[in-house]
Amino acid sequence: MNEENKDKLYRSFPDLYEQLKEDDYYFFTCHDGWFDLLWRISEYVTKAAEKQGLEPRVVQIKEKFGELRFYMVGSNRELHQSVQKLCDESQHICERCGQPGSFRVTGAGYWCVRCPACLLMEAEQYRQRWGGEQSQMTPEEWMARNNRRFSDSEPGDDEP
Ligand SMILES: [Zn+2]
Repeated sequence: MNEENKDKLYRSFPDLYEQLKEDDYYFFTCHDGWFDLLWRISEYVTKAAEKQGLEPRVVQIKEKFGELRFYMVGSNRELHQSVQKLCDESQHICERCGQPGSFRVTGAGYWCVRCPACLLMEAEQYRQRWGGEQSQMTPEEWMARNNRRFSDSEPGDDEP
């Protein structure tokens, strides 16, 4: 996420992002295509927290196994589950540009959600940098190629 977009979130939801903004221990790493989704999650959490008298603080935002992860302290189970559902939308949003996207597995098994245009762009960057073809397999193709079952590669844990 670029600094300008991070700042928009920090300024608009100062309480929610208090810790993430001030402490380098916490991190915020994903591309800008998920900005609108993060905005919606932030609005949702802020309103829900007000209603329930909670004071959640974001401690980590990142991409894991291609999906958005949004970790807070001071939340409760209900709020956590609602946020999880919103994060699931990232499975269909290109992490780079925000257009509709789908799962791909690139290179050595790295999961991501990309739209066709960003996939092409990354493939071109890869060609220029490494002089070869970047893999753009779907998860199904990748697992067939690597002889792995879906469950082996599925995000199984919810650890930060
Ligand atoms: Zn894209």
